[in-house]
Amino acid sequence: MTKKSSLRLAKRLDEVGFSDIVQVRNKVMELRASGQTVHAFHGGEPFFDTPETVKYAMMKALVENRTRYAPSSGIEPLREAIARKLRTKNHIEVTPEDVIVTAGGAHALFVAFQAVLNPGDDVLLFSPYWTPIRDMVTGAEGRALLVPTMPARRNGLTKTLEQFSTPNTKAIYYNTPQNPSGIVFSRAEAEEVAAFAKKHDLVVIADEAYEDLVYEGEHFSIASLPGMTERTISTYTFSKTYGMTGWRIGYAVAKEPFMSGLRKLVLYSVNGVSTPTQWAALEALSIPQSTIDARRDEYRARRDLLVAGLEDAGLHCEMPAGAFYAFPNVTGLNKDSRKVAATLLEKAHVATIPGVVFGAQGEGYVRFGYAMPKEAIAAGLAALKTYLKSARKETR
Ligand code: PMP
Repeated sequence: MTKKSSLRLAKRLDEVGFSDIVQVRNKVMELRASGQTVHAFHGGEPFFDTPETVKYAMMKALVENRTRYAPSSGIEPLREAIARKLRTKNHIEVTPEDVIVTAGGAHALFVAFQAVLNPGDDVLLFSPYWTPIRDMVTGAEGRALLVPTMPARRNGLTKTLEQFSTPNTKAIYYNTPQNPSGIVFSRAEAEEVAAFAKKHDLVVIADEAYEDLVYEGEHFSIASLPGMTERTISTYTFSKTYGMTGWRIGYAVAKEPFMSGLRKLVLYSVNGVSTPTQWAALEALSIPQSTIDARRDEYRARRDLLVAGLEDAGLHCEMPAGAFYAFPNVTGLNKDSRKVAATLLEKAHVATIPGVVFGAQGEGYVRFGYAMPKEAIAAGLAALKTYLKSARKETR
């Protein structure tokens, strides 16, 4: 018998995809390199730069040689400040021991799934969902069970979760505000999901990356509900609130036994986030809530401009209550969202993300990000309208 080659990738990575979003980004760069203007609605980064105070805190840390190994779970002052923020803003009863600093929200989620899942475990995932989540679940040898969000909200979350759950269900991924739909789950919905998790003894992996971007309703942390702190791993990031996407810093909150697992995984994956970056993050946490609120108002104005423009162009869009994405229905153009996104990019130079990459329930939609200057939104809308007008004339 011939021995199978060792030059083969580990099997558990076979079904793990590589982000479709990166492919759109590459095509945009190609168009730009050839001198074309591109209306960049495909991105998911804040429109403002990292605050000066945060940048200076990083420089100060460098000048003062705070550049050596730090505890792999994070520097004490940062974990203390995060715990304080969680107690006052998120109403989660935690100590610094329950907090771990990670290389962004993505890393926090990665270590959370790795810490919780055994091969063959199922994870309930409201769909459409943030694309990497399914790959993280698959990479942890788990299986994603897609729960259609819109029908679930109409028919009742509990009923729908019961319907999609299996005897192997171990966890629920609970993201609010949501990417890509902008949906914000209410407190009552959090209570339903929490009751379901308790009834079936499930772990909740909460993703609160957009906690500061809620325009209607309130942000509510599921871990703050009675009996939920011990069964929830909540994840956060500095990326969106503080314009720090490239710094790669976030955090996770959990009780034992999960915190020990997160500690091992952070230790052996990155051995802690860069020390000066952690000092800069500590400075970010001292930015007053009023500054964050003012920025949210700016986002709201952009949301309103985009959604009104999309409606005007004949693309119906539910008003997103949070995050910085709009998710219009494009079935009037074509049922295949990949075709719609490709045509919009090709013909109107309007870059969007096909909804299907966020799960089958996203088919028929495309995602527009509106974290961009207002003038850029207006210019993109004008290009979109001009194209749609000519396209509709052609099909008449
Ligand atoms: N969760 C969601 C829903 C997101 O959209 C993102 C970023 N796009 C993240 C988590 C993670 O962001 P980061 O890794 O930059 O902290």
